[in-house]
Formats: sequence, C-alpha cells, structure tokens
Amino acid sequence: MAGNRALFLDRDGVINHDSGYTSNSKDFRFIDGIFELCRAARQSGYLLIVVTNQAGIGRGYYSEQDFFALSEWMRQRFVEEGASIADIFHCPYHPEHGIGPYKKDSFNRKPHPGMLLQAAEKHGIDMAHSIMIGDKDSDMQAAKNAGVGIRCHYLTLENQDELSGAATCRIYSLREGISLLSGTARE
Ligand SMILES: [Mg+2]
Repeated sequence: MAGNRALFLDRDGVINHDSGYTSNSKDFRFIDGIFELCRAARQSGYLLIVVTNQAGIGRGYYSEQDFFALSEWMRQRFVEEGASIADIFHCPYHPEHGIGPYKKDSFNRKPHPGMLLQAAEKHGIDMAHSIMIGDKDSDMQAAKNAGVGIRCHYLTLENQDELSGAATCRIYSLREGISLLSGTARE
C-alpha cells in the first residue's frame, strides 16, 4: 500500500477568485466548478489539501488570526458541499516584503516544496499518484519539487500566457479537472 492519494489545491485563483490578498468571507468568491471537482475527488478517495502562500500576513495586510477565521468559514462551506478538506497549509513569509520575523526565504513558500512535503508526511500521501491544481508557475514548480505526479495548470483568460514548463497538463475550467481523477488509478 503506497499511501493516500491527494488532490492538492492552491487557494487564491483556484478555490476563490484572486482579487488580491483576500482576507475575509465577504470578499471570498468561489470559482465556478470548485465544489463539483472536490466532491468528485472525495468520491474517488482523494484527500483534499490546500497549500497556499499567504504573504499578506507577512506584509501586515491581515493577521494570521484573520487567515484562520477565513479558513474555518471556507472549510465549513466545503463540508456543506459534501467535500470536506483534510488539511490547510499556509506560508505567511516573504523573502523581501515580510515585516520583522516574517521576512524570510521560507522552504514552505511555493515554488519551494515545504508545505507539500509536510502534508505528505502528515497524511501518508503517495505523491506520484497525487494531483496538484494551481494557477501559477510557482504552484507547478512546488509540486514538481515535491514529486507530485500530475501537475495541472489551471489557465484563465487572465493568466493564459503564463503556461508553466513544470506542468504536466492544463485545464481551462475546474470541471475539466474531474477527468484527471481517473488518470492516477493504480494498476
Ligand atoms: Mg494562486
């Protein structure tokens, strides 16, 4: 038994529209198809794990407590949609713009793989048979660095010129991602 499969999700730009440093539920708008995708993933046995850079904390735009409160609200919405999230990892640091102790080149900040590797250890994840969906090259790089087998770049009208060399596939809607779930079945 090689472990659990996970669907790793970036948050801003994949779960919610990235309006820049989203820090409360009033401004949090879910992207069309996210619940269908996540429900299908749970039904196929994937753990849902969110890995999100949150330099807005390090920059002093909002607090870690604000982030935790928003995360609790978000988790509850996923529970209501039949797609419970197993874990959420965040990195509050920024190598240049972090204030005080938050100014640091963290191994957890994507494109570094720290958050994904922590998740793999904590949840016993079979990375080669797992999936990462992100909207940025740094998501794809982090997933590649962590050994995630399927690295899916979610492209929109806003970021379609940012195709990542580290991606193994691309989707233009989150519902398209449902087809990835059967692509990692073990023989
Ligand atoms: Mg993003």
